[in-house]
Amino acid sequence: MTETTKYLLPENRIPRAWYNLAADLPEPLAPVLHPGTGQPVGPDDMLPIFPPSLVAQEMSVEREVEIPDPVRDVYALWRPTPLHRARRLERALETPARIYYKYEGVSPAGSHKPNTAVAQAFYNKYDGTKRLTTETGAGQWGSSLAFAGALFGLPVDVYMVRVSFEQKPYRRALMETYGARCVASPSEETESGRAILARHPDSTGSLGIAISEAVEMAVARDDTQYALGSVLNHVLLHQTVVGLEAMEQMAMADDAPDVVIACAGGGSNFAGLAFPYLGERLRGGRDVRIVAVEPSACPTLTRGSFAYDFGDTAHLTPLMKMYTLGSSFVPSGIHAGGLRYHGMSPLVSHIKALGLIEAEALDQLECFAAGVRFARAEGIVPAPEATHAIRAVIREAEACKAEGTSRAILFNLSGHGHFDMQAYTDYFAGKLRDEAYDEAALKEAIADLPGVAA
Ligand SMILES: *Cc1c(COP(=O)(O)O)cnc(C)c1O
Repeated sequence: MTETTKYLLPENRIPRAWYNLAADLPEPLAPVLHPGTGQPVGPDDMLPIFPPSLVAQEMSVEREVEIPDPVRDVYALWRPTPLHRARRLERALETPARIYYKYEGVSPAGSHKPNTAVAQAFYNKYDGTKRLTTETGAGQWGSSLAFAGALFGLPVDVYMVRVSFEQKPYRRALMETYGARCVASPSEETESGRAILARHPDSTGSLGIAISEAVEMAVARDDTQYALGSVLNHVLLHQTVVGLEAMEQMAMADDAPDVVIACAGGGSNFAGLAFPYLGERLRGGRDVRIVAVEPSACPTLTRGSFAYDFGDTAHLTPLMKMYTLGSSFVPSGIHAGGLRYHGMSPLVSHIKALGLIEAEALDQLECFAAGVRFARAEGIVPAPEATHAIRAVIREAEACKAEGTSRAILFNLSGHGHFDMQAYTDYFAGKLRDEAYDEAALKEAIADLPGVAA
């Protein structure tokens, strides 16, 4: 039996340009606002923390943004990534659906995040930055930026959410192997960190707090800039290499997706796969359903408010219009750390508000069960975040079976779970629970939203 299950592109097919969805939006994004003046921020407001090249990309409405050769050279370490047809999973599910996945776990850090980390390190180096600061939750982003910093000769300081710092020593070791400095957040190094510790000495931290610390350090030093691993327009732009490659690979498979599915934390792996397809649809091309999947414990797109909010807890960032659970909302400690963010990318929020995409929220136990099922059929152990996409794919495949129709389902396998085996251990030991969010805490956090006319 020689069924083709893997579609590979040669190195010279790494895309030459990223795709910018802003060029094809039916309505423009709401402006980002300055928290002090309430006025739209201009490039000058962003230069204290981002280099000029990335500020320009953040505001760009050009459809194509060229990928610099040094970035493509580093991409070539692991790109183009493979696209697989999950025939064994299809057989296990006895579904007529055709299931495909784009596997981003082959990168050095094990996820899609180096796609933007490498680009951000390159532009910072090019624009003269001497040091980068960032935050990390589960450690995926911190290790991706540490890797990229090492290749472009930029020192990286990572503020790591304390609970992960303690629970994920191997992610920390990976960052340190690449030469980054890793600090448990909240820390004594920043005013934001000290303020939290004064009130909550035992704080286990949150992404919002760690962002405040990293931004504060970048603002304080002229030669230091900040890098964010998701949410912002330029980050989503860099991730579109994923979808652009997938389109070519689906053509090699002589197929095209009816449904595109990805998990969504800040929205970057979702955007990376889905935006090139959405752009094609918006330009009058093929119709395709697009589904973002989030955890029930942090249901930003399905239960949040579409409103102006801060990206961090200490309110150092500008105000972005997005789906948000409130910047003071601290999600329960589910294992998909990369999906525990109170907000959602403004671009992803915008297309959800326009009705261009769907969203659903799933519980962690059913997601782990789906991840285990996937591993036993396909061999790859998925990151806990990616199990959310897998659960949604299995549901869709089961619906195909019930209807007796065959649809093509494409999803983003955003990373492997090799650094998350404690989560699997806890799952097998029956220690994981479905963590509902605290309805009262959510109400409180949403009542706290800054009063900006939307
Ligand atoms: C960080 C991460 C996510 C969530 O972030 P997005 O910006 O929403 O993509 C998902 N999967 C993996 C493997 C991650 O590391």
